[in-house]
Amino acid sequence: MPNKVAFYTLGCKLNFAETSSIGNQFLKEGYEIVDFRNKADVYVINTCTVTENAEKECRQVVRRALRLNSGAKIVVTGCYAQLRPEEIAAIDGVDLVLGSNEKFEIINHLNQLEEGNPSCIHVTPSDKLSQFHPAYSTGADSRTRAFLKIQDGCDYKCSFCTIPLARGKSRSVDIQTAVDNFKALLDKGYKEIVLTGVNVGDYGKNINARLIDLLEKFVNLNGEFRIRISSIEPNLLSDEILELAASTKKIANHFHIPLQSGSDKILKLMHRRYKTAGYENLIYKAVEKIPDLGIGVDVIVGSPGESGEDFLATYDFIKSLPVSYLHVFTYSERPDTEAIKMENQVPVNERRRRNNMLRILSEKKRAAFYEKMKGKKAEVLFEAAEKDGFIYGFTSNYIRVKYPFNSALVNNFKTVNITEVTNNGCLVELDNSKIFSEVSNG
Ligand code: SF4
Repeated sequence: MPNKVAFYTLGCKLNFAETSSIGNQFLKEGYEIVDFRNKADVYVINTCTVTENAEKECRQVVRRALRLNSGAKIVVTGCYAQLRPEEIAAIDGVDLVLGSNEKFEIINHLNQLEEGNPSCIHVTPSDKLSQFHPAYSTGADSRTRAFLKIQDGCDYKCSFCTIPLARGKSRSVDIQTAVDNFKALLDKGYKEIVLTGVNVGDYGKNINARLIDLLEKFVNLNGEFRIRISSIEPNLLSDEILELAASTKKIANHFHIPLQSGSDKILKLMHRRYKTAGYENLIYKAVEKIPDLGIGVDVIVGSPGESGEDFLATYDFIKSLPVSYLHVFTYSERPDTEAIKMENQVPVNERRRRNNMLRILSEKKRAAFYEKMKGKKAEVLFEAAEKDGFIYGFTSNYIRVKYPFNSALVNNFKTVNITEVTNNGCLVELDNSKIFSEVSNG
């Protein structure tokens, strides 16, 4: 009987991509991967530091694993493990605490683990996190979309963020490895590849390359596929990237561009690298170059110093912009950040109220965007799942659509006409026009 391993991942897509690659290491060693709800010999928990209750959540997951197998080895890794290893080692039942670098050497560490030892901590200091570990994930429930890690770490110093401490300096995969991994995903049948990282737009800084160089390599590969960039800082979304996206169907007409605040005073306190005027110019330039572009916006409410006026400035600013939805985060104090020491912290109930207001605004933006697309053509990648007799998919500009289930559509691109906006996606009719007509060189 092979040894069994189970994984539990918290946090972002990057963490999921990394768990997937760690899983492959275990498979190569002859392990069988089982669901976290099943009995396993090893449980690996890949943590996140963004979560407010990281410690509580981690403790619960460890307990859950030990209930399934009290003799199992428990390994905790990821950003929380990198930042607070002692806190985790103190949790009953944890055998190994591995930092952001060591998460790719779990099997070695497991082999060296001596019976009966107290939990072992192996964490490279944050300022020495310089190695890049390539990773890609393949969503468990989908053969349509995969996540490819191209970058890690961040050199920015946003006052609210602990990621640079947890993941170290900005670094990237080299172009050839990225292209090889990309091709491997296409060979497996994936049609949409989401490029992930901590600061994706910063790709290539340490290897004398740029994100545009990598994107050009990808779009020149043969095949019917589409690339989505998970998120890109406004100061890094260049004209060249916009022009490339406008010129090819292989880059989704969708960008997720963090704003964080619509008040210049708050942006300055956050140490963000742009002002509202620059952000506004970028958004208008992008929608002019790419008609019907979908734009998602990250925003943080209730950060220190955010007065009622600053919040309203954010609200009005976003309301005025042609963006399609928001991801709203409520500021929460993180140890080791500059923001936690700042004056004028916003009361928690006020943070919640602001969050609610922006969530409602997000729904209005989304509805308006969907309505605007009604009667228009769009390019959809249909996914596998059937629900209530429908097959679902996303358009290039990130609208969820549905069509009466037809197995021939699974994992296929189709041009559609959007006919009706409903609560759980837009209804569409199929159209026969081809999507990928361009000639590839790759
Ligand atoms: S850009 Fe700012 S918010 Fe994003 S990871 Fe870097 S420091 Fe954190």
